[in-house]
Amino acid sequence: MKPESLMMSHGYKPALSQGAVKCPIFLTSTFVFNTAEEGKDFFELAYGHRESRPNEELGLIYSRINNPNLEILEDRLTLWDAAAGSAVFESGMSAISTVLLEFLKPGALLLYSAPVYGGTHHFIHHVLPKFGVSAIEFGVHDSLEIIEKRLEESGKSHELALIYVETPANPTNDLFSIKEMVKLGERYTQLNKQKVFVAVDNTYLGPLWQKPLALGADIALYSATKYLGGHSDLIAGAVMGTAEVISRVKTLRTFLGNMISPHTAWMLLRSLETLQIRMERQQANAQLVATFLQAHPKVEKVYFLGISENLNPRTQEIYRQQCLGPGAMISFDIRGDEKTAFSFLNQLQLFKLAVSLGSTESLAEHPATMTHVDIPSADKLNMNITEKLVRLSIGVEDPQDLIADLKAALG
Ligand SMILES: *Cc1c(COP(=O)(O)O)cnc(C)c1O
Repeated sequence: MKPESLMMSHGYKPALSQGAVKCPIFLTSTFVFNTAEEGKDFFELAYGHRESRPNEELGLIYSRINNPNLEILEDRLTLWDAAAGSAVFESGMSAISTVLLEFLKPGALLLYSAPVYGGTHHFIHHVLPKFGVSAIEFGVHDSLEIIEKRLEESGKSHELALIYVETPANPTNDLFSIKEMVKLGERYTQLNKQKVFVAVDNTYLGPLWQKPLALGADIALYSATKYLGGHSDLIAGAVMGTAEVISRVKTLRTFLGNMISPHTAWMLLRSLETLQIRMERQQANAQLVATFLQAHPKVEKVYFLGISENLNPRTQEIYRQQCLGPGAMISFDIRGDEKTAFSFLNQLQLFKLAVSLGSTESLAEHPATMTHVDIPSADKLNMNITEKLVRLSIGVEDPQDLIADLKAALG
């Protein structure tokens, strides 16, 4: 069955919860063992002191290690990416920082695409150096040859341990090729004789419209605050990957203690039931809104994956290879300057003036002075993040109401 059919039931047994149709919230810190022998078995497995016996599963121990709400949520999340496993976190940043800490070590080299989410950028530049990890970045205009040259010239390519890509790039919708990064990772895995992992932040298009694991990536990362949660009422994160990846990530999570709470996990279970219809509606709305903006005289340029004539040939090619839809994030240059952009934002009635994305309500923001304020001016210009750029996250409202709101504000 398709994931959308299984979101109401997968991984939950009503008989274990008094027949309740819906999974209750397990607000408990610890779990009663039937016998001391059972407790011993659970701990041996949890700490990897032995392999599991046939049909043996890890029992419930303590809510930092496992809890029914976390486990059911993880089981359901794996379906969208056809992942062997997943691990859920108290925020997207928790998921990302745990992966960076687990797959990098002192002396290691990280290769990453720019721009990345502001929190990720801060972690790479201000936290990882304290652990002796160095990083090399590449942009959307850098060819594979240039990236490899940069790696070789760093003198540290033999320490390359992780390739990290965020695609589409926020806020410009530029695309990076996941397949190309997987190939690069494979090449350095052979050269260095140790595995180079490839991680993709899939928050912008996933899990419906882009499947990094199917394209060969080892790790898919999510801010579950965005489309997965989808209602602007929670903060959470998730990691998807192979059994080996998830086992390593969960072990570090146990000791960092940054797992999601049972209550937030329960809210996400509820959100996942409508994930498919929300995202489909948001995408359909976004196509209509982008088409309207494209034709408006006060709009200079629209950045949206669903308007192919605005995409350069390379982006078009990557889009065909790795995206299943254009998503629901639109950016555009307004004809004017910061003052024009602000005046437009201040006039919006239905769109809320707020950062974040992927939710049922439509949001608008000004990247240059808000989400991307921390990026040096020269880099911002290089990435097309100018004072006339406005970013929209499209929700599930009536599309004609959204267009009417934009039309009035542009007017
Ligand atoms: C929001 C976001 C994050 C961070 O997630 P939080 O849930 O806010 O911690 C990471 N990556 C991307 C692409 C995001 O949009």
